[in-house]
Amino acid sequence: MNCCSEKPVIGLHSGEKLCRAHFTEYFENKVFKTIRQFELIGKDENLGVALSGGKDSLTVLHILKRLSEENPKIKVSAIAIDEGIHNYRDKTLENAREFCNKSNVKLHIFSYREEFGLDLDEMLKVLDVKPCSICGVFRRYLLNKKAKELKLSKLATGHNLDDECQSIMMNQMKNSIHASARLGPKVGLVQDDKFVQRIKPLYLCTEKEVTTYAFINGLLDEFNECPNVPQSFRANVRDMLNNLEQKFPGTKYSTVNSFLQTLPFLKQQFKADAIKICSKCSEPSSNGVCNACIYLERLKQKLVIK
Ligand code: SF4
Ligand code: ZN
Repeated sequence: MNCCSEKPVIGLHSGEKLCRAHFTEYFENKVFKTIRQFELIGKDENLGVALSGGKDSLTVLHILKRLSEENPKIKVSAIAIDEGIHNYRDKTLENAREFCNKSNVKLHIFSYREEFGLDLDEMLKVLDVKPCSICGVFRRYLLNKKAKELKLSKLATGHNLDDECQSIMMNQMKNSIHASARLGPKVGLVQDDKFVQRIKPLYLCTEKEVTTYAFINGLLDEFNECPNVPQSFRANVRDMLNNLEQKFPGTKYSTVNSFLQTLPFLKQQFKADAIKICSKCSEPSSNGVCNACIYLERLKQKLVIK
């Protein structure tokens, strides 16, 4: 069923087809409703957006920037991490710079090379690890550390419903239910000064919806994917879920919605393993030494950094 006489730009899983204007209204309402429903943003905030320059983070920044214009007590800036992934991150960072210049948003860029002495591409030449494992550890580490230095009250990420659904399934398959306890629209188990609260305003928006919103609103004009994606476990789970969704529409929504019902119990159950402090760098960690310090030690043993 079409929403009106205008040409539809997207079909929702409910069967409804929406035109550009109706879809934009539907999408933005959904994001604002998510923010209210999960109490993601207060009246007075110094928000940071973790900006990769891809469709998801540009969409979050675009919407939160508007929110800040309507609410002077909400400030918004962006943090980008340059991992050093040749022929990929340089392009998405260019999108990020362009967008922030145009939208008058302060952009802070931090790189693996400056912070850890090596680009991700170089790290992968000396360590036999899956790219996303080491990349994710260093990115989360830097984002949290820099968000604290910038005195941000919260850090918004571009995670969408598809990402969350993949994480839930991956944790099930890896018997990592404790990792699922940290998921949800507000990340983590407890609030702590060592940890800048991460929030996911696109939590209930599908990847297809975010992509459509980003393109029809001119937030980016080409799609870039990290060259390391095909090696990841996530990419395999993503393909499996897309396949299921095509055959059984609504699968992703149902998975995330049922997860949300169990999430309060999981958070309660794992509250005791909340944040510890790394004995080497004093950043938050789930063990005595954080994963970033463990990887840095392995790189030092290979004598590639001092
Ligand atoms: Fe890093 Fe993996 Fe994401 Fe590429 S796909 S940016 S390697 S986490
Ligand atoms: Zn550490």
